[in-house]
Amino acid sequence: MDRQFFKLSLCFLVLLLIVTGGCKKERTEDVANAKPTIEKKLNVVATISMITDIVNNVGGDRIDVTGIIGEGIDPHLYKPTARDTKRLTEADIIFYNGLHLEVRITGTVFDKMKDKTKTVAVTDGIDRSRLRIASEFMGGYDPHAWHDVSLWMKATERVRDTLAHTDPINAEYYHANAKNYLAMLQTLHEDMQKLAAQIPAKRRVLVTTHDAFGYLGKAYGFEVRGLLGINTEDEAGIADVRDLAAFIIEYRIPTMFVDTSSPRRGIMSVQAAVRANGYNVKIGGGLFADAMGTPGTPEGTYIGMMRYNIDTIVNSLQTELAYQE
Ligand SMILES: [Zn+2]
Repeated sequence: MDRQFFKLSLCFLVLLLIVTGGCKKERTEDVANAKPTIEKKLNVVATISMITDIVNNVGGDRIDVTGIIGEGIDPHLYKPTARDTKRLTEADIIFYNGLHLEVRITGTVFDKMKDKTKTVAVTDGIDRSRLRIASEFMGGYDPHAWHDVSLWMKATERVRDTLAHTDPINAEYYHANAKNYLAMLQTLHEDMQKLAAQIPAKRRVLVTTHDAFGYLGKAYGFEVRGLLGINTEDEAGIADVRDLAAFIIEYRIPTMFVDTSSPRRGIMSVQAAVRANGYNVKIGGGLFADAMGTPGTPEGTYIGMMRYNIDTIVNSLQTELAYQE
């Protein structure tokens, strides 16, 4: 009897161990499986819309992204509002262009954040030898790197690597998205080269308001002349207008382009000065310089904006050059 009781107790004990052990194991697996859904999405803030677009393409639905410098806002002059400052301080990662573009954010808000938030300049991954030196920044670099698609591909890789490193659970997802997006950018780059090549090399001159298109010129073979400097803060003086007008007449430039980030009046003074000297120059379409178009329209994406710019330049120059001959 005693022996039977002992056997029974042993059986019960073994059963108890199996049940509790099993339960315990199941619970750990539950937690492990549930982790990605429990995990909070990364809260990302981007400055200019061209960067917000990269983050959206690479981060997809695994992140929340807010772009703070939207359509028609000049990043050179942009000062964060109280709401934007709050967004910046609450972010897990801030992606910005760097190269002194967003000076009023990097110089003020970033200082206060110290090491609390990860701030990443997307242009950091670009080989310095591929950047343009800008005299306005006392030997610093021209910040408008997005106008060369091959440089913006480097910016995309920077975003990809930062997201994958910060959120390793979704690393594979970010890598797959980036691969697709980079392939689209490569096609865009090649298409832009082909379109630019339709204009004879010596007629590939791009006269614009502020000098935002130096990288476009370098990558796609245009000589670029801007009325204003690289920074939109400068005002065009009488001498700038006179010099540009003389250049246009000398090289028989048929069309000038206005950009979405600078006032039109400067370029109109140039047109008047040219006309006063008996030559006529047209004002072609508007180019997107430092911000993309309206969200939801083709120009509201980086790829759409770049296609719009190259189409506008090539079509205007082709039409006017044909008229000149
Ligand atoms: Zn600019």
